[in-house]
Amino acid sequence: MSGSPAEVKLVSNAMANITRRKIMAMLVENNRKKDEIEKAIGASMLDYHLQMLQQAGLVDLKAGTVILTDFGKNFMESKAEKPAEVKKDLIGTKPIEIAEIRQLLPCIADKTKFRIIAKFSPPLGGALKLLEPLFPRARYSEKIGALIIQRGTILITIYSSGNVTMTMIKSEAEAKETLEELKNTINEAIVKGVTPVPREKVKVDHMEIYEYLPKTDCKICGEQSCYSFAIRLIGRETTLDKCTPLLETKYATNIEHLRVLMEYL
Ligand code: SF4
Repeated sequence: MSGSPAEVKLVSNAMANITRRKIMAMLVENNRKKDEIEKAIGASMLDYHLQMLQQAGLVDLKAGTVILTDFGKNFMESKAEKPAEVKKDLIGTKPIEIAEIRQLLPCIADKTKFRIIAKFSPPLGGALKLLEPLFPRARYSEKIGALIIQRGTILITIYSSGNVTMTMIKSEAEAKETLEELKNTINEAIVKGVTPVPREKVKVDHMEIYEYLPKTDCKICGEQSCYSFAIRLIGRETTLDKCTPLLETKYATNIEHLRVLMEYL
């Protein structure tokens, strides 16, 4: 997109509608099958809405899957909530409560598991970054102003606005239990008022990387097997984007985990 007045108008028309904004918000999290979008927002005029977004260059439709274009991604990032200013210590930060568990959606990668959207209140704002050392596997993303925590197969993202998303959750009970544990760990640090000390760097080995690869040995990445690809990734001799099968919807959770693991290399 060149940013000409005509293109700007196409984008603003596309985003003027609440249904289309909802579709874009869904796509920020992951690529979505068209029928998945239909289930979430209804079938009414879905083709029309998708066409408007396509004309504006925000989305593409490939084999029944709707994806954000690079332009769409940049657009959504520019509209994303600005991360709160990072605080220097936890003094003045209020303990949090679980305000709500709003949605329990089937996980794209594994339909027997759920994706949860919940909320902590009050929002942790700029204190969030200071909490990173509390969790063995966590990193604060400056880009989205969120703390991303990996707990086994579960990925938890806490935003400075208080919103929380969790993937690969087995049940509502597990969601509640996980949120409760997070809340208690965070509140303990807040009550002490002590900023957690930076922890040792997490060690990631090739077997852990291999666990999240497709394990089909298709060789698209230029390696003989997924195992060799994992070893080359650990040695920083290749990059994750070479494994294009990971872009398939069924590997949505795997790629999220792999991106987190790559941060520790
Ligand atoms: S492209 Fe991905 S799935 Fe195929 S061999 Fe390489 S790592 Fe494995």
